[in-house]
Amino acid sequence: MNSSSPSLFPLSLVGAGPGDPDLLTLGALRRLQQADVLLCDELVDARVLALANPRARRIFVGKRGGRPSTEQRFIHELMIREARAGLRVVRLKGGDPFVFGRGGEEVDALRAAGIAVEVLSGITAGIAAPASLGIPVTDRRHAPGVAFVTGQCRNNADQDGGPSGPNWPALVQSGLTLVIYMGLRQVDQLVQTLIEAGMAPQTQAAAIASAHTPQQQSLICTLENLGHSIRTQGLRSPAILVLGSVVAQANHVDLALQHPRLQQA
Ligand code: SAH
Repeated sequence: MNSSSPSLFPLSLVGAGPGDPDLLTLGALRRLQQADVLLCDELVDARVLALANPRARRIFVGKRGGRPSTEQRFIHELMIREARAGLRVVRLKGGDPFVFGRGGEEVDALRAAGIAVEVLSGITAGIAAPASLGIPVTDRRHAPGVAFVTGQCRNNADQDGGPSGPNWPALVQSGLTLVIYMGLRQVDQLVQTLIEAGMAPQTQAAAIASAHTPQQQSLICTLENLGHSIRTQGLRSPAILVLGSVVAQANHVDLALQHPRLQQA
């Protein structure tokens, strides 16, 4: 491979949104229609993929918790190789590529290889999933703002060298609404950590799984009941958790007709 050969087209890092193609941007649609190669994450909805150039080669490089995942380095090498071959490469990611999507790392790797890259933002699940229940994440009547955090990182008290997790006591103290990605698998530990960090056990909570897909499921309960409710109702990843009084705004829009499986706990 000649590392100095320029790629003809910028590689497009594209956000596919949370599911429903109605939430795709026009820019994303254009890139999909023009693509020669699609490198897709597992969370990309099949209805979005159906809009892509039917002749485009599709390569699935899923990275989901608990399953064998494609190594990030391999994904970087693949993107670089396809771009250097002069092909229109679209790297398609669920939601927004720069929100918990490793988009930053991929841009760094491409830049280091001299590949031009453009970023097409997508609608992130942390906004669209709450919105599907009518929860406006920054409603000023409830909180001064919102924090998007991962539920997967260890507490920042842990010292084993990886990236540190959120400073939960500081987040609770901030009074911000918390929107938690990747929090379902360790929900009991998360709830315990939050209560120990000072969050009231009665804090209102919502969990929204597979938002904007036909499999969408959601529930509303209190922080202390979150793990139990999730298990009882059988919610599965991917899911967004919302914590804060803004959850009270849920279901002001009646989506129950569109999504018969939407239920309140
Ligand atoms: N880049 C993505 C997030 C990737 S991290 C975005 O901006 O949305 C993966 C996490 O995103 C999942 O664990 C889940 O917390 C959330 N997620 C992605 N798609 C979702 C969906 N359709 N419904 C609910 N949560 C979703």
